[in-house]
Amino acid sequence: MSRVIVIRYGEIFLKGKNRDYFESLLIKNIKAALSGINYRFTRTQGRYYAEDFAPEDESEMVERLKKVFGIHSLSVARKVAVMAESDFPEIREALSECADEVPAAAGKTSFRITVKRADKRVPGTSAGIAAALGSTVLEKGRFKVDLTDYEVNFRVDIRENGFALVYSSDIPGAGGLPVGCSGRGMLLLSGGIDSPAAAYLMAKRGMKLFAVHFASPPYTSDKARDKVIDLRDKLAAYTGHMKLLVVPFTDVQLAIHEHCPANFMITIMRRFMMRIACRLSEKYECGALITGESLGQVASQTVESMTCTGATATLPIFRPLVGLDKDEITAIAKHAGTFDISIRPYEDCCTVFLPKAPVIHPTLKAVERAEQGMDIEGLVSAAVEGTEIF
Ligand code: ATP
Ligand code: MG
Repeated sequence: MSRVIVIRYGEIFLKGKNRDYFESLLIKNIKAALSGINYRFTRTQGRYYAEDFAPEDESEMVERLKKVFGIHSLSVARKVAVMAESDFPEIREALSECADEVPAAAGKTSFRITVKRADKRVPGTSAGIAAALGSTVLEKGRFKVDLTDYEVNFRVDIRENGFALVYSSDIPGAGGLPVGCSGRGMLLLSGGIDSPAAAYLMAKRGMKLFAVHFASPPYTSDKARDKVIDLRDKLAAYTGHMKLLVVPFTDVQLAIHEHCPANFMITIMRRFMMRIACRLSEKYECGALITGESLGQVASQTVESMTCTGATATLPIFRPLVGLDKDEITAIAKHAGTFDISIRPYEDCCTVFLPKAPVIHPTLKAVERAEQGMDIEGLVSAAVEGTEIF
């Protein structure tokens, strides 16, 4: 008896014509997620199987697959031979083992058996086979049949090739769409809690991400940059490998500090971030910018501030967290595994030169006036040229 991981895909099933494309992406992402592990990948209508792997790899494979967007659910099944003219001794043995894995309860646990018969050479009806197999579970003494309101559904999939899969586990997948099917986005990745959560949500919608981080050495340390690298690496389980671009931002911040009224510092700094991110997006063919902004969270996240920062962007800005509060964002960050990294204490560039009283409702006119006389193009080009890839 060997074990097989059954992989079911979700939303992409609905996409009609594009289905082949979505499936090829999902398969590519599954294989990338399982790289370094020996197994065999097979597929049938509507699902995939990972089989012939070493028993000690099973839980790691499940953990990795749980993070692949586009997968709806997973099951770990026992694979057994099926003899057509028999009382299915192998299936019964597997079923008995599955039943033993169901945790003991105070009363009797209700169950049903659902048989799917792709191999029509196996005689009888699916319902008839299920009813016959029921005795194996009932013999345990702690189960009762309930076909509609059951706690456990034992599944027996009789496949075409003389094998059956027997399982009761149903592990929720990450849902969403396979990464890569919704274009490319440039994520503004700080070391905070929010932008990694934004990355998670956009990757879930199938976007392939590139990350840009603005660093201001010596005001920000290598530790701050390493933290961002760690965030990128942590996110990779969901996003796939994400290229990280680190932009030298000190000169921009110093120039703003020198030329502009202090209360406009944050707004103008954000405008430079957008300009630079757009320029880098051309190179990496990204069609949108992504930030971790949430309406009203801080002074730079008012409608007016967003209008002023957005005005410099030549691409749409996606703010997937805009309507979420901090608790909701924190829950996403914890789920994505980034929260513990984000709360490490290192400064990011935004906390350098922080004004005592930033404008909360800037007007575009006033901001543009404040920027007058700055060598915007020179600063942007120099930052883009100095950008390092990690
Ligand atoms: P976060 O938790 O993501 O840092 P925040 O609540 O601290 O967000 P801000 O510091 O105002 O909010 O930043 C808003 C958004 O601007 C961030 O979510 C991120 O997308 C972007 N951003 C801020 N600082 C940087 C940086 N140093 N490098 C790249 N992007 C940044
Ligand atoms: Mg921040």
